[in-house]
Amino acid sequence: MPLEGMDAPTIRPRPAHAPVNSLTKAYKEYAHMSLIKQNPALAALLEAHMERLCAYEHMDAAAIRASIDQGTLTLLGNPKHANVRATLIGQPARVKVNANIGTSPVTSDASGEADKLQVAENAGADAVMDLSTAGDLDNIRARMLSASPLPLGTVPIYAVAQQCTEAGRDPAGFTPDELLAEVSKQAEQGVDFMTLHCGLTRRGAQLAQDGSRKLGIVSRGGAILARWMRRTGEENPLLTHFDALLDICRKHNVVISLGDGLRPGAGVDAGDPAQWEEVLTLGVLAKRAWAAGVGVMIEGPGHVPLHLVQAQIQGIKRATFGAPLYVLGPLVTDVAAGRDHIAGAIGGAMAAQFGADFLCYLTPAEHLCLPDARDVHEGVLASRIAAQAGEAALGRPWAIARETAMGDARMKLDWKNMAEAALDPCLVRQRSQGTEHGKECGMCGKFCAIRMAEPEK
Ligand code: SF4
Repeated sequence: MPLEGMDAPTIRPRPAHAPVNSLTKAYKEYAHMSLIKQNPALAALLEAHMERLCAYEHMDAAAIRASIDQGTLTLLGNPKHANVRATLIGQPARVKVNANIGTSPVTSDASGEADKLQVAENAGADAVMDLSTAGDLDNIRARMLSASPLPLGTVPIYAVAQQCTEAGRDPAGFTPDELLAEVSKQAEQGVDFMTLHCGLTRRGAQLAQDGSRKLGIVSRGGAILARWMRRTGEENPLLTHFDALLDICRKHNVVISLGDGLRPGAGVDAGDPAQWEEVLTLGVLAKRAWAAGVGVMIEGPGHVPLHLVQAQIQGIKRATFGAPLYVLGPLVTDVAAGRDHIAGAIGGAMAAQFGADFLCYLTPAEHLCLPDARDVHEGVLASRIAAQAGEAALGRPWAIARETAMGDARMKLDWKNMAEAALDPCLVRQRSQGTEHGKECGMCGKFCAIRMAEPEK
């Protein structure tokens, strides 16, 4: 366990090409220090939000600090994001839900995305990612940051690729310095967490593209980086410049979401050598980040058949030393197009039960088109159902209390409390309209089982 009580360094030497599998000499000097002590932005944020965090997470301050120092918990919140609702991700905090929004080259409507942000927040999302790839990305991001207190995540390589294509260059025609400059700019803007595919190596990309996979690389960021490595013959710049990224992220408490550029895009690819090659690298990088005072999350699959979800979640957690795990779904079947939010919620519930911390939603539009506002609402609710089911299975008191409240209300035919216990109260009120308190609903009418089981008066 790191020692506390030392002053945080402000400037560090920046090694250009750090070895993947060990701490650099520069960071070894600080590795004995507490993560929080090394990160003044994080320390101040924790101080400001601790009371609310303790109440919401049912944890005491000492446990929160110890878990952050260990790396099993991380705090999303960049002090540059005005009014940010600092949010804990990891064990033993509540399972959280993320909604992806953002423009695409096919549909680019900044105000439409602003509406979706509001829909996601109203539906109960804990965080939002702006995955925009078209339009004025700086402006879209700034609008989202000022419009919502939810922690905002981005994938900076999208912006760099967009800048390249607008300048008539190849989307993978950027330099490492341009990539670092984009990360730095977004951190200054107030972005709270960033997907950075630092664990995608040349070896991993080759494994994913040697013909043994059904679907090679399905991550946009992963594909751009694989293309960059193929064009330059060099190793992933996010890996070779990892220490420079740590310097930027520590300064603003940007949590690095270590991206899964080689996640399986088909159930039959789950758990193949390419996926695990990247996961093992992510574990090493997580340790390097913690030693440098930077919080991380690990991004996980993707498409995983039902019988492999437990092994995937527990295996990734073990290989990454208990770092918070942020999963996309996982989708337990590949053939639910149009209803992938259901396939993702089934996998998400299991993933939460086996240790996943942060569920990225899927919407009915997944694999088909850009989600609309209705899709965003449905996606957030599907993931919240998954989180509730997973937490109830874990016996978490707040989840059990909610289940109990619904059971009590149903036994009393108490429609007001049924709506309040439900994850989507508006929908319950709307669908049960006309049903009086204490009276049966329209499903069974006079054959209402609850009424018939009551002792006759
Ligand atoms: S009518 Fe049927 S569905 Fe409705 S409250 Fe009674 S038992 Fe439940």
